[in-house]
Amino acid sequence: MTHRVLVAAELKKLLEPSQLAGLEVTWLAAGEPTPKGDFVAIVPLLSRWVGGTEFKNLPNLRIVANVAVGYNNVDVVAAEMRGILVTNTPGVLTEATADLTWALILATARRLVEGVDLVRSGRWTGWHPEQLLGLELRGRTLGLLGAGRIGQAVGRRAPAFGLRILYAARTPKPEFERDTGATRVDASRLLAASDIVSLHVPSSPETKGIINRESLARMRAGAILINTSRGDLVREEALAIALELGHLGAAGLDVYADEPAIHPRLLAAPRTVLLPHIGSATEETRRKMATIAIANLQSVLGGKPPLTPVYA
Ligand code: NAP
Repeated sequence: MTHRVLVAAELKKLLEPSQLAGLEVTWLAAGEPTPKGDFVAIVPLLSRWVGGTEFKNLPNLRIVANVAVGYNNVDVVAAEMRGILVTNTPGVLTEATADLTWALILATARRLVEGVDLVRSGRWTGWHPEQLLGLELRGRTLGLLGAGRIGQAVGRRAPAFGLRILYAARTPKPEFERDTGATRVDASRLLAASDIVSLHVPSSPETKGIINRESLARMRAGAILINTSRGDLVREEALAIALELGHLGAAGLDVYADEPAIHPRLLAAPRTVLLPHIGSATEETRRKMATIAIANLQSVLGGKPPLTPVYA
């Protein structure tokens, strides 16, 4: 028996034909609206919203196998109410995203983009003792807002740079504390006491806009904000103003509230390192993400439980 399924076309090259056995795949191009029909599964990228209208148009849908660990592009409540399973791809992208977070920490702290621009401009006049002075990491404090898989993986790299770690999460992480010397504090204390604040909470109604005018004001003068989680955690105009005023030292961002659009004021703000949502972008990780999404779909269509459901 073949199952009619919708799969994001961008995944074609990451999947082997054997993984698609028993499936009649309709490849869904980016920008193409989600079609109506008797499809039983959809494998969307995080850029595709899947909610009430899509569920109405896909009456036979059994599973949304999202190709991301975050699933804020899916109306999970509406799905659950209709008995549609939702799965994500946790774990496989943890290390790649933690590495990229460190790329942003180092790039912002040591002013990499300004250095590259200076060299390319032809205006570099040679070594100068006060040129592009950055933040020395050793002895500073890294604040992890959210310490799940990715937050902890970022934290586990920190002792090598001589950073002290603070973290905020709903539940304590004794093993992480033991291994890294990290201390759990509330979010407000974390903002006030960190030289670098790195965001690792998921996007949810409680966390949306968690970095706003008030929370930015609570951050240390000259502190650095890093966001490799989700763009809507940050009020982008407020961040731009904090950078313009020089209250924040720098911001390193991989994600934005309205991708691929970036708030024009943020785009123009000083001391930013802005990346195009490439946290998980390694060959290995992207293959594993596609593989888990399809394995979830195959498991459910084969009458078995999903491998990585987002709700029990
Ligand atoms: P995770 O393991 O679920 O960790 C989430 C952390 O946030 C946990 O520590 C959790 O606390 C904490 N948390 C959740 N809601 C909170 C709240 N309301 N207040 C305070 N803390 C809260 O997720 P993950 O695998 O680390 O991924 C984190 C996020 O990274 C994903 O949601 C995704 O959006 C993003 N991401 C981005 C990229 C990229 O390409 N840039 C790649 C991968 C993932 P508890 O541990 O106490 O539950």
